[in-house]
Amino acid sequence: MRKALVAGNWKMNGRAKVNGELVAQVLAGLDAQVDSDSVDVMVFPPSLYISQVKGLAGKEIGVGAQNLCEFADGAFTGELSAGMLSDAGCNAVLVGHSERRSMFGDSDARVAAKVKAALAADLTPVLCLGESLEQRDSGEALNVVAEQLRLATEDLTVEQIARLVFAYEPVWAIGTGRTATPEQAQEVHAYLRGQLQQVDAEVAAKARILYGGSCNPANAAELFAQADIDGGLIGGASLKANDFVAICQAA
Ligand code: PGA
Repeated sequence: MRKALVAGNWKMNGRAKVNGELVAQVLAGLDAQVDSDSVDVMVFPPSLYISQVKGLAGKEIGVGAQNLCEFADGAFTGELSAGMLSDAGCNAVLVGHSERRSMFGDSDARVAAKVKAALAADLTPVLCLGESLEQRDSGEALNVVAEQLRLATEDLTVEQIARLVFAYEPVWAIGTGRTATPEQAQEVHAYLRGQLQQVDAEVAAKARILYGGSCNPANAAELFAQADIDGGLIGGASLKANDFVAICQAA
């Protein structure tokens, strides 16, 4: 009942020429190998290239932003508002990615504000949640992600929560080549869905919860086969067309 979603997080990578080649190759690969009825595909380029990628991606690939400012337009030098991202053709925006939480001051309060700003501009927030290695080793993983989820959504209505996509990304698996095992990931995904169930059973049943963290063509199928894993948020492997298409195919 949940359609899979595979989303490529390009992070701070790309140039106009490379982006053009990558999108063309992904489009060709999707066309040849992937059933668009079974998986939605999105990419999240650096904001400067959103318009370029949007122009190339057509209907097959949704385009989102990696970040937004929580405030409405005004005197916020260097920032981009949700309205601007929407105007540029974005459908979605990543919120709460661990790189932003750890390096750019995206506190739980700011994450919550960004989710609200995104919803107000009709963007789908892709809310990223995940524990550090230290937190996992001390048995805190489930508590940490549940608390992140609670703080990001506590002021939202059930209707608003229904519009979110979730991404479980254990920090220790991001860009490290060390993937969560399917069992580890499934445990957290099932737990998150259980938390959503306390909000609303239908919202929980329909929520798409993606896995992210060193997902690649070799491990994607096994991860995506888990009952509560509905696709992936793909970093490094989304920069290689063949790998990204193979991951879409696995979904
Ligand atoms: P990775 O990144 O696939 O390179 O581990 C995932 C992410 O940070 O979204």
